[in-house]
Amino acid sequence: MKFGIKKQFIFFFIAVAAVSLIFLSFILKIAIEKCFHDYVWTAQTTSHEKIVDYLQNYYSTFGTWKNFDGDEVNKLAKTQNRYFSLYDPHGELIFSNEAEIAPCCQDPNHKYWRNIYPVISNGIMTAWINIGQFTDHIYSPEDMAFRQSIFYGIILSFIITLFIALPLALTLSSRLTKPIRDLKLATDAMASGDLTKNINDTSSINEISGLVSSINHLRKSLYQQEALRKELTTDVSHELRTPVNIMQNQIEGMIDGVLPINKERLEWLLNEMQRLTGLISELEKITQIESDTFIPIYEDVNLSETVSEIVSGFEGAVQRKGLKILTSIEKDIIIKVQKDKLTQSILNLISNAYKFTDKGEINIKLYTQNNRPILEIQDTGIGIEKNDLPKIFERFYRVDKSRSRNTGGAGLGLAIVKAIADAHGWKINVISEKGKGSLFKIKF
Ligand code: ADP
Repeated sequence: MKFGIKKQFIFFFIAVAAVSLIFLSFILKIAIEKCFHDYVWTAQTTSHEKIVDYLQNYYSTFGTWKNFDGDEVNKLAKTQNRYFSLYDPHGELIFSNEAEIAPCCQDPNHKYWRNIYPVISNGIMTAWINIGQFTDHIYSPEDMAFRQSIFYGIILSFIITLFIALPLALTLSSRLTKPIRDLKLATDAMASGDLTKNINDTSSINEISGLVSSINHLRKSLYQQEALRKELTTDVSHELRTPVNIMQNQIEGMIDGVLPINKERLEWLLNEMQRLTGLISELEKITQIESDTFIPIYEDVNLSETVSEIVSGFEGAVQRKGLKILTSIEKDIIIKVQKDKLTQSILNLISNAYKFTDKGEINIKLYTQNNRPILEIQDTGIGIEKNDLPKIFERFYRVDKSRSRNTGGAGLGLAIVKAIADAHGWKINVISEKGKGSLFKIKF
């Protein structure tokens, strides 16, 4: 069976209040009873002592019980509901008022109860006295009223506590449940596709505020993913549809005889087809690397040699463009990677440096820092604006679409580098300034 937080909270709150009150009342009851009992006993003893004192004084004064009439002490005893019988040391009765108690003995709870005390005068036992009283006279009506008022007090405080606990429990539980209910509504809206609304943090509870900010963060990244997915779909269809449409028009024109069928036109068509095939195979590469099943096939690779080989492959083209390529490569750095993926990423980065640099130089450094190989590819090219930097690793993202189209890029090169780096656990860093150049750094 499931209950809401509010019901559970109220139930536990009241249960805790009730249990602690019951315990408290129980302990209080025992403590008060004990104090009360002690107090009554002290009062008892004092009143008995008064009677014995009187008798001791009497004997000290007269030295005999012969003329003892018992009047004074009888009065004293009666005021305290006491009865007594005084005997001499041989057991002979001197005086008794116990004959008067008979009419009181009807009630079974009205039990008679005796205490014996010696009457000692100058160190000699001169008599002994039996002081009796009825049990219901132990507690006076005032005593009983006092005792009862304490128990009424306990019951009253129990009721008052419950009355205070209930609204408190209600307030606390609403403070807890309201933000959770709001959160549920917001996440329901998210589940049904509304990712635009930020959830307001109205709670004063730290943990709930933390949850709200995590859900807001989740919402934001889902929103961005969704936007990216839509953009990606548009980009893919645009990248594929435009060249396919152009080719279709060209072929239709040739079939209709509007366009001549010649070697140049066929070569152009072939080029476009090759570009499309290249694009599709790039997309396949990313999809394959990003798929859950991709695990790099690690082997020992000489990173220094790989970088040198790729650089020498670019030398001719770089020179023809009037650029310089500078290298500082630490020898024989060996790393465990999937070789073709390593080559692919370095190739993409150097190729970008080449594509986006019109004058100046490309500087390539390979070194080890804290036992980790680092590859830097720096150029004096067009640079990237700060706003574009976080997006350059997204698929199809190109800062300047027209320039990239001329250079043949579809915005997939860095996405492939990123996917390979993530699969291997490398870290990539970019520092760039518009108009001055860029620095791409891979920490293997
Ligand atoms: P492309 O195929 O267009 O090169 P990439 O994914 O490799 O795609 O790069 C994405 C975009 O990042 C490029 O279009 C370009 O705008 C920018 N970029 C990448 N490398 C550099 C660089 N070295 N200098 C300036 N811009 C660069």
